[in-house]
Amino acid sequence: MQFLEDAPVIIIGAGLAGLTTAWRLRQDGREVIVLEAADRIGGRAVQSARVWDDGQYAELGGELIDSAYHAVRALCAELDVELLEPNIYGERHDGDESLMEGYLRVAGFVLGDRVLSRTECDEIGVELRSAAQAHRPHPGEIVEQWIRRARLSEPAAGVTRALARLLTQLDPWDCDTHFVFGAQDGTFQRIRGGTQGLFLALADGVDVRLNDPVVRVERDRLVRVTTTSGQKLVGSAVVCAVGPYAISTIGFDPPLSDERVMTATSLLPAMGGKVMAQYVEGDLVREAFGSLVCTDGVINAAWVTAPSAAGTPEIVTSFFAGTERGLLADPEAAYARLDALVADVVGSPVTRVHGEVKNWWAEPLHLGVTVAPAEGTRAEVAGILGGEELVTHFAGDYTDAPMSGTLEGAVRSGLRAANEVLRKSDAVHTDHVTERLSI
Ligand SMILES: Cc1cc2nc3c(=O)[nH]c(=O)nc-3n(C[C@H](O)[C@H](O)[C@H](O)COP(=O)(O)OP(=O)(O)OC[C@H]3O[C@@H](n4cnc5c(N)ncnc54)[C@H](O)[C@@H]3O)c2cc1C
Repeated sequence: MQFLEDAPVIIIGAGLAGLTTAWRLRQDGREVIVLEAADRIGGRAVQSARVWDDGQYAELGGELIDSAYHAVRALCAELDVELLEPNIYGERHDGDESLMEGYLRVAGFVLGDRVLSRTECDEIGVELRSAAQAHRPHPGEIVEQWIRRARLSEPAAGVTRALARLLTQLDPWDCDTHFVFGAQDGTFQRIRGGTQGLFLALADGVDVRLNDPVVRVERDRLVRVTTTSGQKLVGSAVVCAVGPYAISTIGFDPPLSDERVMTATSLLPAMGGKVMAQYVEGDLVREAFGSLVCTDGVINAAWVTAPSAAGTPEIVTSFFAGTERGLLADPEAAYARLDALVADVVGSPVTRVHGEVKNWWAEPLHLGVTVAPAEGTRAEVAGILGGEELVTHFAGDYTDAPMSGTLEGAVRSGLRAANEVLRKSDAVHTDHVTERLSI
């Protein structure tokens, strides 16, 4: 005898959220089918497919795992996915008022084309601490507003803008101060061998169907999902794990609540992308870049990608965001900017051998890097977008209030959606299902 709970759970989207849901449900013995629009798994976390010299690799999307990513770390441990040694981008001390002071202790800063000395960084750290004490950031206050209210000097304002962009990929007039006053300690790890290792482990043995976007979801006591190629699947529940804007490309019957649609489409995306280039002068680049270099220009941050042996070239990865992000549409111009920054930091011209640009802002299924609502609205937004309705569950980084817009948020949301499904498995006889299907 078969019951409705034996019908597969259909998961839309093979990003980190969708694959985490699939993995968790399979652990519980549930059958799952994952439908993915793209020709690959991973969504916004993906390795570059190009061949770089010396077997080096680069990440086109999410890669950094910070010390507060408990769900990602637990998942990696369970799947035997190893993390590399930590990279220290910021060193927090007791009494710090903001995470900016920590970054100023270890990261490099370039304002305009001027590389700040360590002494200048220390002085800016002192200024930012006393500015924060004298002008406590107000909840919801925008970073640029705080910069002006606190009357920061130009260098301190430049550092604040650079870090706000690095942490959000938003302009400082689009993000609130909690991002730069948050508790992050600036210690990050990456997956050994690249993020693909995690995705392959999660998808091992899962029925993932690529290259076939879902176009329609009919739902009642069961779900009927139709894809672009005409596949029609029947399931006991559906987990929609696509980005917030991709929701608008799926016809839900009955339609989604107005509140959900309006909230999803009103989110402000961080628009930008990554530019990577491999340089012959690897030793010089590794030494000069140290941990991380932040700038107040279109390149908000640049870093060496993975530890590579002496005598080998080095890949520098950079984030392009802000009003000049249009450069991402012109790879040669984007490379020229990155070359100029690397030359400034190294102190001499450098030789680029390979490059790659990933413009997430121009990706139709994503329309940006990520969305992270302002602190004061997060719980409400996540409550609306993550709430289940009619055998339909929602996962995705933006449905997790504390860790919105991160790999951690994606994993947490995937686990939550799986747990919702497991609690809700109705025991309905398949005769009922068949009867309904024949309508
Ligand atoms: C450049 C960049 C750098 C980043 N850096 C970091 C970082 O260092 N650390 C960090 O924590 N986070 C980072 N992030 C964010 C992180 O990558 C994301 O939070 C995370 O990958 C989101 O996973 P997700 O599963 O929620 O969504 P996604 O990865 O967007 O997955 C959604 C999936 O749904 C698919 N889809 C869409 N529509 C349909 C449809 N109709 N039918 C079927 N499938 C569909 C998409 O193709 C996609 O595969 C970065 C993101 C970018 C872009």
